[in-house]
Amino acid sequence: MSLLDIRVLGDPILREETIPVTAFTADLARLIDDMFETMDLAKGIGLAAPQVGRRERVTVIQVDDDRYVLINPEIVEREGSAKAEEGCLSIPDVYADVERATRVLVRALDRDGKPFEVEATDLLARCMQHEIDHLLGRLFIDHLSVLKRRAALAKWTKGKDKYPNFTRRLSAADVASHHHRDEEL
Ligand SMILES: [Zn+2]
Repeated sequence: MSLLDIRVLGDPILREETIPVTAFTADLARLIDDMFETMDLAKGIGLAAPQVGRRERVTVIQVDDDRYVLINPEIVEREGSAKAEEGCLSIPDVYADVERATRVLVRALDRDGKPFEVEATDLLARCMQHEIDHLLGRLFIDHLSVLKRRAALAKWTKGKDKYPNFTRRLSAADVASHHHRDEEL
């Protein structure tokens, strides 16, 4: 397994739609394992392929002790709505309240290509919506009002020089300095 660099806001890949997976190869399995390793070190609860510079329609999630691999996921039902703070591993140090459905039913393929459905509520539902957005080229800041987005981007502009070439290379120090570990997706 190997640690992957995280792409940050400004890298065009974060704005591209991913490509549905059709082949369940050893390469795909390696990508999934590397994404879990990267997410774990970054103390995130979700990571989508574009965040590590890849175009496959794949996301990994860990909420509480449950791990999920969602390949070609689709939200088939959504219900309720609530606002809560979100962050993103690709927009470090920026947090904002985002309105999301409180319950979703997601249909996806597992790492072997087998279809399944998962019903998610609360934080897991929020995480899945955030990650599925990534697979469609959307970011959490897209859900903010113009004013709140402007404030978030102003904060980002101040810190973005830390990430040359839109690359965030994880290190022990980087991880140790993170306080919002449970809200980054
Ligand atoms: Zn994110």
